[in-house]
Amino acid sequence: MDQVQATIITIGDELLIGQVIDTNSAYIAQKLNSIGIAVHQRIAVGDDADSITNALDTAIAKCQVVIITGGLGPTADDITKPLLNSYFGGKMVIDQPSLTHISYIFEQIHKKPMIERNRKQAEVPDVCEVLFNQSGTAPGMLFKKNESLIFSLPGVPHEMQWLTNEQVIPILVNRLQLGVIAHRTLLTAGVGESFLAESIIDFETSLPEHIKLAYLPSYGMVRLRLTGKSHDAVSLNWDLDSLFQSLKLKVKDNLVTDKDEPLEVVVGRLLKDQNHTVATAESCTGGYIGHLLSKHAGSSTFFTGSVVSYDNRIKTEFLDVPTTVLQTVGAVSKEAVEQMAIAIRSKMKTDFGISVSGIMGPSGQTDEKPLGMVWIGVSNKEKVVSKVFYLRFDRQKNIEVTANQAINLLRLLIINKI
Ligand code: ATP
Ligand code: MG
Repeated sequence: MDQVQATIITIGDELLIGQVIDTNSAYIAQKLNSIGIAVHQRIAVGDDADSITNALDTAIAKCQVVIITGGLGPTADDITKPLLNSYFGGKMVIDQPSLTHISYIFEQIHKKPMIERNRKQAEVPDVCEVLFNQSGTAPGMLFKKNESLIFSLPGVPHEMQWLTNEQVIPILVNRLQLGVIAHRTLLTAGVGESFLAESIIDFETSLPEHIKLAYLPSYGMVRLRLTGKSHDAVSLNWDLDSLFQSLKLKVKDNLVTDKDEPLEVVVGRLLKDQNHTVATAESCTGGYIGHLLSKHAGSSTFFTGSVVSYDNRIKTEFLDVPTTVLQTVGAVSKEAVEQMAIAIRSKMKTDFGISVSGIMGPSGQTDEKPLGMVWIGVSNKEKVVSKVFYLRFDRQKNIEVTANQAINLLRLLIINKI
């Protein structure tokens, strides 16, 4: 099946010097992918006429869909609009709905008179279809050349997002013959990527041509995604459902969720379903586990709070870790995290407790305790369980992996697997 191909062109000197990270093209790529359009290439260029022209030539020669972001604003460095006007051979005219909208924003919302510079934002080449921008002042534009549709959107992310969802995607779906792309995703924990691959090798090699399996390892877990492409949504979904069912059976011992959702959402749901609560005692993660547990709406029903016991004094004074433990086996030890997990549960009056203590790097190791060594503890009213991990990433990644391993250990305790 021939898929419609797209090029994304992002414009701005700030993107090339790394001052602004190009999140626009990732966003657009995901949206295009979800309607069955393949992104053939992504090009980032500066605010420079020759570079933009060359990028357009290349894109139009190859792709039926071209999406440009950036350079539509009212300042002198925003050269995209006049350039597109001459590239497509138009002349500038005022777009009345955009002008009405811009005057409304200035006069009614900002309570300021509109200046000529802002009025100019309502000017568009007379050879484009105007894409009304409800979320900002610069309208989007749609041009046609040969077989290609060329969209120009503002660079400001929330404006680009609004136009992509409300204008670009519906136009593409209505005007092009698109295939269907569908995904099924599951999350596994407790098994490495290569072992997992080995255990499902028969499944993978027997997949039909139109369905592919992807391994997405992250934070010490592995996500598996089946992606299918077809012209027929009904048969594609049927194929995906039955293959996904057998994949789930194959990995059932390590399956965390059969939805595309983060681990903390799965654990939050388990707690909520049982009307249970959790609190955390965090040393090396500095509150990051609490952040993950409280990040999604509705978490107050199961997450009570955290003690960030970074300093040993806090471990002793707030969590009753005996000084003898700290002096003999140290803060990064089974004894310390088990006491922390017990104390946080009882002080916060929760059903479960989580504790962590480790050496996140880049320094702080000793002969017995290497960089990346982390003890994690979890407790409920019957027991406390602890486990040691040896991580090998940089400080930030070690913190993230620790948090995920801790939440996973809690999950295992909740479902009686440890
Ligand atoms: P406006 O009309 O609102 O000024 P614009 O089209 O002129 O929009 P730019 O001036 O290119 O947009 O960029 C506006 C802001 O949007 C930039 O300061 C930058 O922070 C952000 N931005 C631009 N391009 C991108 C991108 N590709 N990814 C993420 N952010 C971007
Ligand atoms: Mg601008």
